[in-house]
Amino acid sequence: MSEKIGFIGLGIMGRGMTHNLLKAGFDVTVWNRTISRAVEFSNAGAYVAATPAELAARCDIIFICVSDTPDVEAVVSGPDGILDGISAGKLVVDHSTISPKATREMATRVHGRGAAWLDAPVSGGSEGAAKGTLSIMIGGEAEHIDRARPYLEAMGKNIVHVGGQGAGQMVKLVNQILVVVNMLAVSEAMLFAEAGGLDLASTVKAVEKGAAGSWMLSMRGPQVMVRDWRPGFMIDLQQKDLRLALEAAEELGIPLIATSMVSHLYRTLQKQGLGKEGNHALIKALEHLAGIEVGKAA
Ligand code: NAP
Repeated sequence: MSEKIGFIGLGIMGRGMTHNLLKAGFDVTVWNRTISRAVEFSNAGAYVAATPAELAARCDIIFICVSDTPDVEAVVSGPDGILDGISAGKLVVDHSTISPKATREMATRVHGRGAAWLDAPVSGGSEGAAKGTLSIMIGGEAEHIDRARPYLEAMGKNIVHVGGQGAGQMVKLVNQILVVVNMLAVSEAMLFAEAGGLDLASTVKAVEKGAAGSWMLSMRGPQVMVRDWRPGFMIDLQQKDLRLALEAAEELGIPLIATSMVSHLYRTLQKQGLGKEGNHALIKALEHLAGIEVGKAA
């Protein structure tokens, strides 16, 4: 018998993840701050709760995917939050990318009610969320991961237990360092190809299956070529993750030179009002310096 599950946060990621849970046939309750976003889920068979507290009271396992640390705190500890509805034996699985330290604090509050917490941030973009192929990096106890596994498998393909509480969020920051420094390499390479008069599509085709291949190059390179800046992942949220990585590096006393450089480049784009564009718009910061533009609008 499957358990009753709830999903809080029906944004770019939560939308695809929740549709996959419904497609798998699970009993799903949803809640979203902007209620209009819940209508398509109600049409697909989900119950729409009035508050996170109601959702937590109805469900055995509560999945969350909202923006930033204060947003998870709001849905957990705020008025009509999860803590107002949760009881012993329930499990909270947080897919948001947030502070590892705040994660441990919230987990302690949830443990105080006899419930459990997994930090389970994801990677794979909006495409991975829609296709159910996300990578999920999990901090917490193995027995709770086993309990959540049937639902996690509807949303992701690479489900890895990386350590204790907070370790999932730390591994996600490792992921984000790799993502942005790679995006910088993709941007610089495409700008160089454009300046050299190369055909961008055949250049990417020639290199993407070799040692230089990457998810960012294959998924976001084609978007750059047609100057399609719609977000899989918004610059504003990317900056939130870089802030978390740089804060953690500060605590650990280690330099993150390339990561902080990318964060400063994104800041110039935010200053220009481009924070809602996709993180592949990083190339615009380099175009500004080089005085040329890559690709042509579709
Ligand atoms: P998004 O499209 O902006 O959606 C954010 C969701 O959080 C919306 O449902 C929003 O509700 C909700 N929310 C924000 N603040 C809230 C608050 N204070 N109280 C209640 N709900 C709140 O963002 P996303 O791209 O899905 O990202 C969600 C999380 O996944 C983030 O932590 C992000 O870093 C992570 N992530 C994203 C990607 C990606 O490629 N997009 C990949 C991996 C991980 P409203 O509808 O009311 O605004």
